[in-house]
Amino acid sequence: MFPVLFLLVFLSGCGRNETKPNIVLIIIDTLRADHLGCYGYDRNTSPTIDSLAASGTLWEEVQAQSSWTLPAITSIFTGLDVRQHGAGRKNDQVYGMNPNTPFLPLLLNHSGYATCGIFNVYLLSEQFGFNKGFDSFSCNWMGSTEAENSVNQAIDWIQNFNQNEPFFLALHVFDVHDPYDPPPPFDLLFSQNGSEGITDWPRLESGSLDNPEFYKDHIINMYDGEIAWTDFQISRLLQFLRNSGLDENTVIIITSDHGEEFLEHNGFGHGKTMYQEVVHVPLIISGPGFEKGLVDSSVRAHIDILPTILDMIGAENPADLSGYSLLDHEIPHRTIPSSNVNSSYAPPVAAIRFGESKLIWNSASDESREFNLSTDPLELNPLSAQESLLDSVLYYWSTPPVLPPVTSNRDIIDAALRDLGYF
Ligand SMILES: [Zn+2]
Repeated sequence: MFPVLFLLVFLSGCGRNETKPNIVLIIIDTLRADHLGCYGYDRNTSPTIDSLAASGTLWEEVQAQSSWTLPAITSIFTGLDVRQHGAGRKNDQVYGMNPNTPFLPLLLNHSGYATCGIFNVYLLSEQFGFNKGFDSFSCNWMGSTEAENSVNQAIDWIQNFNQNEPFFLALHVFDVHDPYDPPPPFDLLFSQNGSEGITDWPRLESGSLDNPEFYKDHIINMYDGEIAWTDFQISRLLQFLRNSGLDENTVIIITSDHGEEFLEHNGFGHGKTMYQEVVHVPLIISGPGFEKGLVDSSVRAHIDILPTILDMIGAENPADLSGYSLLDHEIPHRTIPSSNVNSSYAPPVAAIRFGESKLIWNSASDESREFNLSTDPLELNPLSAQESLLDSVLYYWSTPPVLPPVTSNRDIIDAALRDLGYF
């Protein structure tokens, strides 16, 4: 009943005669919030995104629902947390969401939106149901250097569809994900050695690197170059919208699926821990209905994006969703869950955010540590866990999926996961 109910509520709440804005949702894979100028970074990695933040609203405290791509982006597109949609990895199997799970492009398509999805990693392919509801869909399975092509593709699509309809463009770019190998001149923006140096970290367990600090500095330089390159590509898309006169009625949403570790807690990469370097993500929205220059410090979540889009176009937020519209400033004080869903080589870990308190719980060892992010933003001084947060994480962990997730072609997926180093 869930998908039917969801669709009925969605359609009945939608004003058909209203002018609906175009929506561009840009997901920059592996982008840490704190490596953007508008989030306080001291390098000029993101002039375009910074100017978008100045012309729109920036949410300072947004928690991703997972620390790796498949479950995190499934949460963005379904409005469901990871336990509810079930996409991820469990018992050596990779699961995607159930085909009947409500999906943002499908809902928008039913509401009269022309839809285009451009994705750049196999985890967001048809294999995992990401093509649902897109009039035009493409997924480059290993798109680590495809931001330029993807932006060209997006511009071509916008130029060629019937512009009497509003459009929804979902653009996922993967360049910031490792390997960190930005094209010239971005390779030398923050590094003297550029691509001649190391573009990846040795995928070794924590503590086995010979000289981790050397890797860290070089890798961060190259990572920042990838951000600047991606930011430049986004500027081309925004320029096209301005030149076409589409910017006035287009809402631009920029976020990432998760961040990246650079030895803050002795590891590299993502998908393993639940510290802020991997679950604190940027969220900026600019366009009709969003206040210019506003910085919102409320604690928010990826699962708030779908209700926001529904709210924006006049649809009600179905009762089944636990997220809240970002346009609604009067929301209950709530717990926000995240988990890695056993990405690969790491034990399942979950986290609960409640205001400035955050609990991280290891389901294998049953160990937990709580942090106060206000007094200890780097999460270095664990506190005794509050009973209420322990109860919350156990409740979250026991939540069954809304609809059972499904396995994909295991041989194909396993080969692709290995290529990306997830084993
Ligand atoms: Zn990712």
